[in-house]
Amino acid sequence: MRKETKCVQAGYTPKNGEPRMIPIIQSTTFKYDSSAEMGKLFDLEKEGYFYTRLQNPTNDMVAAKIAALEGGTAAMLTASGQAASFYSVFNIAGAGDHVVASTAIYGGTYNLFNVTMKRMGIDFTFVDPDCSDEELEAAFQPNTKAVFGETIANPSLVVFDIERFAAAAHAHGVPLIIDNTFATPINCRPFEWGADIVTHSTTKYMDGHDVGVGGCIVDSGHFDWMAHADKFPGLTQPDESYHGITYAEKFGQGGAYITKATAQLMRDLGAIQSPQNAFYLNLGLESLAVRMERHVQNAQKVAEFLAKDPHVAWVNYPGLKGNKYYERAKKYLPNGTCGVISFGVKGGRTAAEKFMSQLQVAIIATHVADAHTCILHPANSTHRQLSDEELIRAGVAPDLIRLSVGIENADDIIEDLEQALKSLD
Ligand code: PLP
Repeated sequence: MRKETKCVQAGYTPKNGEPRMIPIIQSTTFKYDSSAEMGKLFDLEKEGYFYTRLQNPTNDMVAAKIAALEGGTAAMLTASGQAASFYSVFNIAGAGDHVVASTAIYGGTYNLFNVTMKRMGIDFTFVDPDCSDEELEAAFQPNTKAVFGETIANPSLVVFDIERFAAAAHAHGVPLIIDNTFATPINCRPFEWGADIVTHSTTKYMDGHDVGVGGCIVDSGHFDWMAHADKFPGLTQPDESYHGITYAEKFGQGGAYITKATAQLMRDLGAIQSPQNAFYLNLGLESLAVRMERHVQNAQKVAEFLAKDPHVAWVNYPGLKGNKYYERAKKYLPNGTCGVISFGVKGGRTAAEKFMSQLQVAIIATHVADAHTCILHPANSTHRQLSDEELIRAGVAPDLIRLSVGIENADDIIEDLEQALKSLD
């Protein structure tokens, strides 16, 4: 199946007389004929469901669709993208371990790593994604357990050199984890470039309609845990909480990572997506390929319009010729990047505020990456407590406007931006 067909059909094939649509199994628990039979599930001796804190059939069907889209061997849904980022690392790193992460990642992920996970005893070294080979090499330590990057970073729109970081990670015997939220598997499949694990905030393009917060983790099945057994004892040594099962032996290279994340992290931490939200997510996935095509077409037109408008000081969109990441985007994302653009209006913070107040099609919202065109001026919202000098130090220009181009008619979006820009005359 090609990606468009997978979006609609992968993950669930109804049998004779069964519902066409993925059913919502809205049940916390599941019935068994004997305790012995249920016991086999608890021992991971038999596949099946016993409690929705760990696994639910609706979730698994939707996760299987995302695994098919990414070209992975196993996947799990989480309650949010944050939970996916956390589990993806915590599944293979604990207190005393170390992770190399790109500086160009979503602010929430940076905070999760740099504050919360550091408090849990996991150390992070952040590297510029365009650093020299020497700097990258120097970031690794004997206790490094993973490398983490974002295909297209939110909000800087830096395109990550997946192949280069995969080679560095593998040279040190650790997997590369990629947050593929902005690109989606429609525009980039990180496993084809050497990544080992992929995460998503499904809240963004995958859901696509501002309906449900969610996340997903997909395993490529490419990383050989047993070949680096000493680094990953959680996967390669017996788990006493499951009667001495060794995940990498029992579930193989393609199943060990997600089984462990389900059996241990979901069991103990429980950040599972609700089956109802998984159903909504599946509705979004069905049209993902069509929507991404339109997001990219619209964003390209809007970026080209902005680049020519005299009120606009600068535009950052990897699809624009001359953008620092244009060539790299052509390599990793030949069908286009995403719908998110950042730009600045002449006149800084005050002009940005006036411009935004005139918009009618683009709505002001903190969200990005969905069907509705939305816009955010960090200096007047999320970062409003900072002075211009502090903003610059935080890497957010006072005039920076983040525009998430939706799937409306591009001319309506452009006319709306045009009339709002004219109000600055
Ligand atoms: N990763 C990226 C790239 C994001 O943009 C976000 C949220 O904006 C997240 C992860 C976190 O996802 P969620 O908000 O679903 O927890």
